[in-house]
Amino acid sequence: MNNSGNDYVIACPAGCHSGFRETDIVSPEGPLKRCPDCGQLVSQCSEELFWNSMKEFDDPKGTLPSGRAAVRLLRHTKKLMKKIERLSGKKRNDISLLDVGCSSGAFISTAGDLGVNAEGVEPSQAPVRTAIKLGLKVYQGFLQDIRLPRESFDVVTLFEVIEHLKDPLNLLKECHRILRKNGLLVIRTGNADSWTVRFMKARWDYFSIAEHGGHISFFNPLSIQKIAKRSGFVVEDIKTRRVSFYQKGEIPLVCYRAAKLFSELLNRPAVWSGKGHELLAFLRKPY
Ligand SMILES: [Zn+2]
Repeated sequence: MNNSGNDYVIACPAGCHSGFRETDIVSPEGPLKRCPDCGQLVSQCSEELFWNSMKEFDDPKGTLPSGRAAVRLLRHTKKLMKKIERLSGKKRNDISLLDVGCSSGAFISTAGDLGVNAEGVEPSQAPVRTAIKLGLKVYQGFLQDIRLPRESFDVVTLFEVIEHLKDPLNLLKECHRILRKNGLLVIRTGNADSWTVRFMKARWDYFSIAEHGGHISFFNPLSIQKIAKRSGFVVEDIKTRRVSFYQKGEIPLVCYRAAKLFSELLNRPAVWSGKGHELLAFLRKPY
């Protein structure tokens, strides 16, 4: 069960130096481990399992949405750009944005339709080919290898990226280098210090590398604050939302619907208390 000694993640991804402690959240790879300084959780998966699980992202369709998903993406992008405009003091037509881990470019395409000058970076080849065919500006590779000019973007976005990284500190430092002064780094990831985790523990599918390829590192508002400071950013805003108690299929449908309704009632308190399982952080590169 426990494959200690073969672990891919050996140090706190937020940059702390204390040793890990085991938790009672037991995934098929063994109990998740917690950093006692910042509460960051990490998987005990091996390097081989990690890279095998990452192969699912080399898919030509990538993240391109259709139908209702496309409508939802447009709504979320509008809301996000409104907040970015407010925090940056710039209008969207004057904003240059880089989406790191952009897949086939769903977000940059939507942001581009709204007038943002949006580009992307993606390591997997198949979705990059799709993005380029769509006429999007996407670089293939890892951000640190591409060496984009310093201070060349107003906004960098990392959506569902840092939970895949053994050492996200290097990536955040590179984001800092390419951002203009007063620029924003927007991070979206799961919140391991959420009511969902307290209730569901390892049943939360976000912890499952089988269901979510490459998920090895689980942040919370405190570990985001720590990694932000260690990479030169100041925290502008951290918000969490959404609570879940059951996955669909775990319990009879009628019970699932009742639990879902209850979790929706808890959404607002989760937002107020920072205990939702979706975390969105806005970090600023200071002058
Ligand atoms: Zn830590």
